[in-house]
Amino acid sequence: MTINVNPVADIITPLPKQLLIDGKFVPSLSGKTFKTFNPATGQVLAEVSEGDAADIDLAVAAAQRAFNGPWSRFTPFQRQALLLRFADLVEKHFETLAHIDVLDMGAPITSMYARRQRALGLPRFYAGMCTVIAGGTLPNSMPGEVFTYTLKEPVGVVGAITPWNAPLTSTIWKIAPVLATGCTMVLKPAEDAPLTALRLGELLLEAGVPEGVVNIVPGFGHIAGDALARHMDVDKVAFTGSDVTGRKVIEASKSNIKRVTLELGGKSPDIIFADCDMDAAVAGAGMGVFANTGQICCAGTRLLIQRPIYEEFVSRVADYAKSLKVGNGLDPATQIGPVVNAKQLDRVSGYMEIGLGEGVTAATGGKRITEGALKDGYFFEPTVLSGVTNDMRIAQEEIFGPVAAAIPFDTLEEAAAIANDTVFGLGGGVWTSNVTTAHRIAKAIRAGTVWINNYGGLDPVVPFGGYKTSGYGRESGVEHLDAYLETKSVVLKLG
Ligand code: NAD
Repeated sequence: MTINVNPVADIITPLPKQLLIDGKFVPSLSGKTFKTFNPATGQVLAEVSEGDAADIDLAVAAAQRAFNGPWSRFTPFQRQALLLRFADLVEKHFETLAHIDVLDMGAPITSMYARRQRALGLPRFYAGMCTVIAGGTLPNSMPGEVFTYTLKEPVGVVGAITPWNAPLTSTIWKIAPVLATGCTMVLKPAEDAPLTALRLGELLLEAGVPEGVVNIVPGFGHIAGDALARHMDVDKVAFTGSDVTGRKVIEASKSNIKRVTLELGGKSPDIIFADCDMDAAVAGAGMGVFANTGQICCAGTRLLIQRPIYEEFVSRVADYAKSLKVGNGLDPATQIGPVVNAKQLDRVSGYMEIGLGEGVTAATGGKRITEGALKDGYFFEPTVLSGVTNDMRIAQEEIFGPVAAAIPFDTLEEAAAIANDTVFGLGGGVWTSNVTTAHRIAKAIRAGTVWINNYGGLDPVVPFGGYKTSGYGRESGVEHLDAYLETKSVVLKLG
């Protein structure tokens, strides 16, 4: 691949940039388009058709027809074969798909290679699930001879709404359970990074997905996203994004009492005990917050550090942050890319002012990069803030940038109390050599996932989701499919 010669010509120009509705790429009814930018350069990357409520209507109608059409007669093995063909195509085109994410939202190419296993594992895991979706037979104490069983049926048309921070994997994460359960869908990708989803749509057609089963409508959240969440013919919304938008989605979903699952934000604690393996903890907790430029929902942004090692750990994690190579994601040496757009850059900068106003110190970082080759992109220095207390805004609010807040603690009980003193509950970490401490903390943290002596890895088999304001429902794991299935009970009187 000649991506180093001209990434835009080689990767972006051939991509579809229209809406995928009923098996065809079509312009939006309004004819409007919107621009998507390369955050590493600030340059326009592509113009994409902008869907609005009228396009959502068409896409939902197509999804409804498909739900009642030949797709409803696909056997589990046929759906499985489709998902496996899709997985094979993702594998075949992985290099291109990875580069679309790099160009559209700034992820370093090396981090995309690290996500390869997940991108391929997701459709293959859900392919495996197709053939094990089953109801059961039940005892029934009603008078007479009664035979009772349950059927698992697809919930119907799914409206999926995704954020921009991991387009490849988050899009596959939304598509795969739909295909596994026999639902159909309308996907509204984030306006900041819609291109990967459109390429995946093309691959789905190549894999043989029947027309209308997967429709993709890029557009703005308050227009196309809202129309989807509100639509009377959408049966379920699978939303990933901020808690602010999640609340709007709940409100809109009331229209027809649609099922809703929400994967929202976090302010996850990563707890470093004095008896930890310091080398492993510095790098693990460091990447736990700086990976993807801090734009990960479960990023371990609050470093809770036991007091005897507080100064040393802050200093070492600051050195680690300084050592990270920030740059254009196309450069294989880059470890940290830009944040996604100018608005996000302002948000991160704004939180620096808030933090400094609250009395914290930047042990390293704290500024936008305004000089040299990176000056036109949306780059921010990996930052470690020390002297943080958990009541500060920088410890309570999701920044979604490369910013770690270091908070001291003395005892396990105090660490657990600080960890849980947040409205969120998505993830948490603990670094210790004491197995009792590890399990006690894992039990004490009110969050959907706890990592012990590692941080942030996701596996399609392992359920993922939030407690509290981080949302409800689980994605991945067997649990995920429940959200896409209705249970029908059949009660038969014999004789
Ligand atoms: P966002 O909430 O601004 O947008 C997410 C999606 O919702 C986008 O597609 C957007 O267009 C759409 N949207 C916006 N307004 C809408 C409305 N009124 N109705 C319907 N849809 C609307 O979030 P973002 O900035 O794209 O992503 C960052 C957020 O996502 C962070 O809070 C992060 O923690 C969260 N996130 C969570 C997970 C998870 O699995 N829990 C994963 C990734 C990101």
